[in-house]
Amino acid sequence: QEEANFLRKSYKCKVTGDDVPLPIGSFEDLISRFQLDKRLLENLIEFGFTEPTPIQSEAIPISLYDRDLIACAPTGSGKSLAFLIPLMQQLSHNKKNYGIRGLIISPTKELAQQLFNELNKLNKRKNLKIGILSKHLATKIKNQIIQSSKFDILISTPLRLIDVVKIGSLDLTRVERLIFDEADKLFDQGFLEQTDDILSQCTNSKLVKSMFSATIPSGVEETANSIMNSPVRVIIGHKEA
Ligand code: ADP
Repeated sequence: QEEANFLRKSYKCKVTGDDVPLPIGSFEDLISRFQLDKRLLENLIEFGFTEPTPIQSEAIPISLYDRDLIACAPTGSGKSLAFLIPLMQQLSHNKKNYGIRGLIISPTKELAQQLFNELNKLNKRKNLKIGILSKHLATKIKNQIIQSSKFDILISTPLRLIDVVKIGSLDLTRVERLIFDEADKLFDQGFLEQTDDILSQCTNSKLVKSMFSATIPSGVEETANSIMNSPVRVIIGHKEA
C-alpha cells in the first residue's frame, strides 16, 4: 500500500472508491496477480509496450477485478491500452458464435479505426473475432447476411450502433464489457439520451462498464454515476485539463 501511495504521488494520481485495487508496477505483475495470458505479454513486448503508463498501472487491475471504472487522463497517456489489455485478458478465447462479449463505443470513425488497429496488435497469437461496425457491416447485419454473434468484440460509433440496435439486429445480451471511449466527446454529441437504449439491451448480469476520457465535465460525471455500480474513479493530472 505504501508503494502504491508513492507511485500515485509520483504520477499525480487520485483514486477514489470502495476497496480500490493496488496498481501494477510492470506488465509482468499481471502474470502473478491475474494469470495474464502469456501471449498477451508477448504481444505487448513485440509492439514496444514494455512498461505500463500511469493510467494503465491503475486501470488494468481495476478492470481485471471486474469493477466499474471512470478514468480520466490526458490525451496521449495510453488510455486505449488501459482498457484493451483487460478486455483481451477477460475474453481470452474465441467462443464460436456465442455472441458479442466486448462492446467499445468510440465518438468517431477514425478513433474506432485506431482502436481496431491497436486491438489487432494484442490479438496476434490469439484468435478473437474483432469487428468495426462500418456502414458495410451494418448493412450486412441488418440484412442478416452476417450474424453479429460471430464477433467477440465490436467497436462502433454511437449513431451506427443505435441504428442497428433500434431495429433489433444486434444481440447485446452477452456483452460483459461495455467501454465508452472519449466519453466527453461521446456525450457532447448528444449520445446521452441513447445511452439508455444501449444499456437496456445489455442485460448480462456480469456486465462491467468503464468510461475513459481526457476531461470529465460535470454532466458526464453525473451520467457515469447514474449508470455505474460502485465505480472506482481514477484521475491522472487534472480532470478539467
Ligand atoms: P490516449 O487514448 O490516452 O490519447 P493512446 O492510447 O492513443 O492515448 O496512446 C498514445 C500513444 O502511446 C499510442 O501511440 C500508443 O501506442 C502509445 N502507448 C500506449 N501505451 C504505451 C506503453 N505502455 N508503452 C509505450 N507506448 C505506449
